[in-house]
Amino acid sequence: MLSKKALSINPSPTMAIDSKAKEMKSQGLDVIGFGAGEPDFDTPEHIREAAFKAINEGHTRYTPAAGTLELKEAVAAKLKRENRLSYETNQIVISNGAKHSLSNIFTALLNPGDEVMIPVPYWVTYPELVSLNDGVPVVLETAEDNSFKVTIEELEKNTSSKAKALVLNSPCNPTGQIYSEEELHRIADFCSKHNIYIISDEIYEHLIYGDHRQTSTASFSEKAKEITIIVNGVSKSYAMTGWRIGYTASAPNIAKVMSSIQSHTASNPNAVAQKAAVAALNGPQECVEEMRIAFDKRRKYMYDQVIAIPHLHALEPQGTFYMFVSVKETIGKTFNGRSVSSSDDFASLLLENQKVAVVPGTGFGAPNFVRLSFATSMDNIVEGLKRIGSFVGDLK
Ligand SMILES: *Cc1c(COP(=O)(O)O)cnc(C)c1O
Repeated sequence: MLSKKALSINPSPTMAIDSKAKEMKSQGLDVIGFGAGEPDFDTPEHIREAAFKAINEGHTRYTPAAGTLELKEAVAAKLKRENRLSYETNQIVISNGAKHSLSNIFTALLNPGDEVMIPVPYWVTYPELVSLNDGVPVVLETAEDNSFKVTIEELEKNTSSKAKALVLNSPCNPTGQIYSEEELHRIADFCSKHNIYIISDEIYEHLIYGDHRQTSTASFSEKAKEITIIVNGVSKSYAMTGWRIGYTASAPNIAKVMSSIQSHTASNPNAVAQKAAVAALNGPQECVEEMRIAFDKRRKYMYDQVIAIPHLHALEPQGTFYMFVSVKETIGKTFNGRSVSSSDDFASLLLENQKVAVVPGTGFGAPNFVRLSFATSMDNIVEGLKRIGSFVGDLK
């Protein structure tokens, strides 16, 4: 018998619809995918060039386990420049993507039975990684009319003596919503008082629209900085998902443990990709703004179109490249005699009949919603939304 713990892990639910969409595409069908969890842009040229140079100059061997000093310094400089946060290089750990950083964090923090609070809707990976590390995920309820943001009352209600950490993801995948500075202050005060770590996933910090701003709880006070573990990376900001570079900034004792863990599980993050990440962080930043502006245009178009479709509702995304759409009013209806009893049904009927792939909210803990990504071309967005409108119009 294989490991019970491993067998209890669910495969990524975003994958099921994705593999069906890919299969249909490979059969030559004209499928429009709103499932993308990554920028549709190429990695900017100066970053790619840095990687070629790194290979040619022989940066192809093991590096220090927690990353090169050069990249840690680039991360520290970024945190100072953009977030006004001071970290020494012994507080930075570079990993093979932010997902790997999160895995290290839970391994470093959790003893069996320790609880990690996760506001719903959540990125699918958080609860699975907590379970894999013998922790207990505690799901915190949120309300759509509070923009899916967790309240102090909900935190109070769920803080037990086993509470070890809270996961915050702002801007949030899948909701696209951002916590205000005031909300974060209240949460940081609560967590400081109860000695609960804040795992602050800031991977979408550059993808913010309108007047919204992203703040890290680490910037509030010495105590808040001590309990905050910042998670970030180059995947989303620089269109570098496949390069696999993420990082954490934390108290030195946590960084030290994570670096030991990583020395045995990964040896080091990819050497060439670390050089590319240095170029991303230290190089010109215009590419980030260009991509953000393109996402913003698509976001506005998508939002206007979706809310004009009867029975669909959504909050305007404030950040990320996702829009979280309520399909609640379609549940209980039928399509050609087949009933829509969940967002899973909504997604599969939509894919079969209109060849549009969306991600059902079930995996995010929100079964009445679907997630639409606007990390795809404007042409796809225009055509895809037309098809969604006609699918919903055909529901009885
Ligand atoms: C994409 C994503 C990550 C991880 O990105 P990596 O490619 O592993 O660096 C982390 N958190 C959230 C919420 C994401 O959407």
